[in-house]
Amino acid sequence: MSESTSHEGLIILGGGPAGYTAALYASRANLEPLVIEGFQWGGQLQNTTDVENYPGFPDGIMGPEMMNLFRGQAERFGTRFVTDDADRVELSDGGLQHVFVGSDEYVGKAVILAMGADPRRLGIPGELELSGRGVSTCGVCDGAFFKGEKVVVIGGGDSAMEDAIFISKYASELTIVHRRDEFRASKIMLERARERDNISFKTPFVPEEFIPGDDGKVRAVGLRNAETGETEELEVGGAFVAIGHIPRSELVGGQVPTDEDGYVLTDGRSTRTNLAGVFAVGDLVDRTYRQAVTAAGTGCMGALDAEWYLRDTPPSPEAHWQAGGEPVEVAPQLTES
Ligand code: NAP
Repeated sequence: MSESTSHEGLIILGGGPAGYTAALYASRANLEPLVIEGFQWGGQLQNTTDVENYPGFPDGIMGPEMMNLFRGQAERFGTRFVTDDADRVELSDGGLQHVFVGSDEYVGKAVILAMGADPRRLGIPGELELSGRGVSTCGVCDGAFFKGEKVVVIGGGDSAMEDAIFISKYASELTIVHRRDEFRASKIMLERARERDNISFKTPFVPEEFIPGDDGKVRAVGLRNAETGETEELEVGGAFVAIGHIPRSELVGGQVPTDEDGYVLTDGRSTRTNLAGVFAVGDLVDRTYRQAVTAAGTGCMGALDAEWYLRDTPPSPEAHWQAGGEPVEVAPQLTES
């Protein structure tokens, strides 16, 4: 049983670039959105240091600071926030959307899903401790910081190849380490990586730890030969883990369609899911681009789709409230005189 129930027009789930951009657009459209932004709001950028590829910041900006700016801009136009994680969601097709946070319930006429994705981790010692200190999960974001350095990219899929090709423009030597001799990557990406003079392959090796140097940054990666069991250290100045992403769709699993990896499916180029009034944006739907700027772009699209939905769709008979939870005056019943 919920201790409190709050009636909303639009609820946005997720506090990353997609969610905050959706909130900015929705609040400027007077939808007074409520963002359930998560306890650790800010998304993947909260764990990123310098961001140099977001337009408008010619000198770069720190990831957490950028998220703070996104959040503040949405707040300026009336966005409200719940800084906690949603525990449960009950979606409906064109009816009321229910979001539960602890003992509180939020009921909306529309919801934008913007929960993002987490990079898949190896789960080995040093991985989290050295994150931002030479260990990264985003080649496009961080590759340029490793000019003239030895770098390792871990993974055998297209992401690993793409990261390796990109980073090899900056690194002096780049080693792709993969746990098998066969690669999941497409032939063309594999060939492109093989054609680069400064890229070499090391298989079948399993990373076991990231080892810090005296300066507190990554110095080496400890590897185990998957066939012989022998271990060795590979000296590096940078290490990229590119073993895929996990979309954070578990909250809505079984309620909206996803692909086999859990990415939420939307209708064509829109952000509409198969449920009327439920929209999905950002890395939750995007397995390909996954950039802050692309996530922000789809956040804008989600807000516009939601705005049009709320404008054009007669409210559910249960939904007698305005955006922001104000009760709507219902016409008085005619009584016989
Ligand atoms: P992916 O295809 O799932 O590949 C993940 C790779 O990481 C696999 O080689 C896997 O090894 C390895 N791996 C997973 N867990 C590991 C662990 N614990 N330890 C060591 N290695 C581990 O993921 P992705 O490369 O991110 O690609 C995802 C999708 O996006 C694919 O459909 C891909 O084609 C697409 N994509 C396309 C492009 C492009 O076309 N330019 C770029 C990026 C991504 P195993 O093979 O042994 O399982």
